[in-house]
Parts: sequence; structure tokens; C-alpha cells
Amino acid sequence: MQKLVIASNNAGKLREIGAMLQPMSFEVFPQSAFNIPEAEEPYCTFIENCLTKARHASLHSGLPALADDSGICVDALNGAPGVYSAHFAGFPKSDQRNNEKLIESLQGHANRKAHYYCVMVLVRYPEDPQPIIAEGAMYGEIIDTPRGDGGFGYDPYFLLPEYGQTGAEIPMELKNRISHRGKALAMLVEKLKQR
Ligand code: IMP
Repeated sequence: MQKLVIASNNAGKLREIGAMLQPMSFEVFPQSAFNIPEAEEPYCTFIENCLTKARHASLHSGLPALADDSGICVDALNGAPGVYSAHFAGFPKSDQRNNEKLIESLQGHANRKAHYYCVMVLVRYPEDPQPIIAEGAMYGEIIDTPRGDGGFGYDPYFLLPEYGQTGAEIPMELKNRISHRGKALAMLVEKLKQR
């Protein structure tokens, strides 16, 4: 088994990534297993922050590392909140305040189009000149009234027109399949197979 550090301590993500990579002989570890401090995420693009997190985890563990970065981009807000999705309404992080700010920012805007985006980067070592990069997006629109109690983050306000349900209403296994993260992970697996 090839050991792989996941630059995250989110239990759900670790389970999902671990399950997808296990058949490919990867044994995944959270970065907390190596007491790795959180990396800085100073950039305005998902890919730069993601690459920085992967390199940081690889440097501190001496192992290949996989990082992911995600957020929601709203067309009428020129792609905001983007990389600032988690802390759109400041610190400490609050989904409720983030959603309030989002809905307020969209008052008077007819264009409600938005998408979730996820990028994943796998480096074999910190200076890897050829990181594997995978990405995925899930398209929808922002509604003013929340619906559903599943999901997290912006999900209750994110309508998937194809399904007539919000991200907080669709079954979790369906979301895992069609989501930005699910698609990025599937692309990562494909690219790993090619390597
Ligand atoms: P992270 O990459 O897991 O840190 O996610 C950044 C932020 O983007 C989260 O804190 C959420 O606010 C938002 N986000 C990312 N993916 C989703 C999703 O699937 N549903 C709802 N919010 C999401």
C-alpha cells in the first residue's frame, strides 16, 4: 500500500477520499496524524491555495500528499465568495451569516446563477514538477428561501434546477456522485490510472 497524506482533518472528506483510493492501493492518513499545522491560504485562486496545502502536507510528512479546495462562485458577484466561501461573513466561520450575506448581496440581481467548484492536487513530493490536478463543478442557482436540512454550508440556498431540489434536499449519495467534489475525485482517480 502507498501511504498518502490528505491535507484535511475533515472526517467526511477523509472517508470519501479513502474509499475511492483504497482500490488503487492507497492508504490515506489525515494530516493531524503527523501534527501538521494548517497551511496559509493567501491566494485568490483555488488552485494556488490547493497546491500550497498539498506541498505543505508533503513537506511536513515526507509522503505524497493530496489537497482539495472548494467554494461557491456566484455569477452576479463576479465569482464571489470564491476562495473566501468559508469566511464570507468573517470570523468565526458561520454558515448562517455567510448565507445571510449572500442573499443580501444578491438583492436586486435577476441573475441567480452560481456553481460550486472543487480542485484537487496530488504531489508525489514537495517540488513535484507535475502535480496531478483534477477539478469539478456543480451548477445551480441561488434562491432566497432556504429548503432542506441536509448538506452543509450554502446548500439550503443552492437549487439544482435539473432535480428541482436544493443541495440540502437531494439524497447524500446522489450529491456525492454529481457534486463538484465527487467529479473532481473521479477525475483524480482517472488521472492516477493513466499514470
Ligand atoms: P472547504 O474547501 O471544504 O474549506 O470549503 C470551503 C467552503 O465552501 C465551505 O466552508 C462551504 O462554505 C463552501 N462549500 C464547499 N463545498 C460545499 C458544498 O458541497 N455545499 C455547501 N457549501 C460548500
